[in-house]
Amino acid sequence: MSLHSRPRVGVLGAGQLALMLAEAGKKIGVEVLCAGNPHDCAAQVAPVITTNLHSSKPVAEFAKNVDIVTVESENIDAHVLEGLNLAPNTRAIGTAQDRLLEKRFFTHCGISVAPFAPVDSLEDLQIAIPEIGLPAILKTRRMGYDGKGQVRLRRAEDAAHAWEKVHQVPCILEGFVPFDSEVSLIAARNHTGDEVFYPLTENHHSHGILRVSSAPARPHLQPQAEGYMKLLLESLDYVGVLAVEFFVRDRQLIANEMAPRVHNSGHWTIEGSATSQFENHLRAILDMPLGSTVSKPTVMLNCIGTMPSLDETNPYPVIARHDYGKTFRPGRKVGHLTIPATEHSVTEHWKHRLRDE
Ligand code: AMP
Repeated sequence: MSLHSRPRVGVLGAGQLALMLAEAGKKIGVEVLCAGNPHDCAAQVAPVITTNLHSSKPVAEFAKNVDIVTVESENIDAHVLEGLNLAPNTRAIGTAQDRLLEKRFFTHCGISVAPFAPVDSLEDLQIAIPEIGLPAILKTRRMGYDGKGQVRLRRAEDAAHAWEKVHQVPCILEGFVPFDSEVSLIAARNHTGDEVFYPLTENHHSHGILRVSSAPARPHLQPQAEGYMKLLLESLDYVGVLAVEFFVRDRQLIANEMAPRVHNSGHWTIEGSATSQFENHLRAILDMPLGSTVSKPTVMLNCIGTMPSLDETNPYPVIARHDYGKTFRPGRKVGHLTIPATEHSVTEHWKHRLRDE
């Protein structure tokens, strides 16, 4: 039962994911309040309460204003989350924010992963290299996203340099997977335990940053991916949207990482699905019935660094333009375009146009 006339969700963070959650909330009468900085982009559509997200007290104060708290990033200190009415739960967030725990959890659930070893020192790294094999990737256990905190190793002699580059923080060494493609599965589970799954999405990255997502992809792998997802959701007693990224190699799924939140590779669901990932996340955490994930073929292109001008996109009525209203900066996700996949020539034109931004 809501404390307020309308259900009120608090998001820790006020970036583009919070912005799109707030937009989805308007559609179903859910108020979204964000905790962050007044200049963050969600402030365009939702109240943003200035909150230091590294400190328990202000976060607990923020939580008093809402029925339930959720996160837009897994990189939030566990101690800040303690005692909050939170979905997804702290175990899910804590697992997803540490690559070692995450890989062990996938393995525990019987899901294949790339070979990996914990690395806490240069000596550990030197021991891990022959065990894991080369090429390999040294990844920081925490605060890794968009390819940040990752160094590739091609030769054993690269070890000392790689260890310096990750600033000698706890890491894992992970075997390089010569994948055929990368896909992600997005699902939602509510408190009652109802689950819905979106079609697999194929993702193309450049320099570790997602550039293009298209769905549906690899339908023959959908049952396997959903089976894995069910194991993860149920063993975490998960509530909300969960995204899992996989490598595809020889028709097998190898889990890379999971995100306990709405995910960039699911932005296409706003136009492409009967119910978007954002709406289903709100529905799940408020224990409402989940919406249909029936979807039509759709492509999403990320705008990195800058947005194309309106003069450039307006001649294409099939494009849904999402400008997050962020300051342009190289490497920063500032918006995305969604295009029906049936619009093949428009999609190809825009893939090419946005490739080298
Ligand atoms: P991550 O931050 O782990 O999602 O990595 C970002 C991107 O780097 C992935 O989407 C892949 O394109 C690439 N990558 C990460 N780990 C591996 C791996 N073990 N083998 C091959 N490519 C990888």
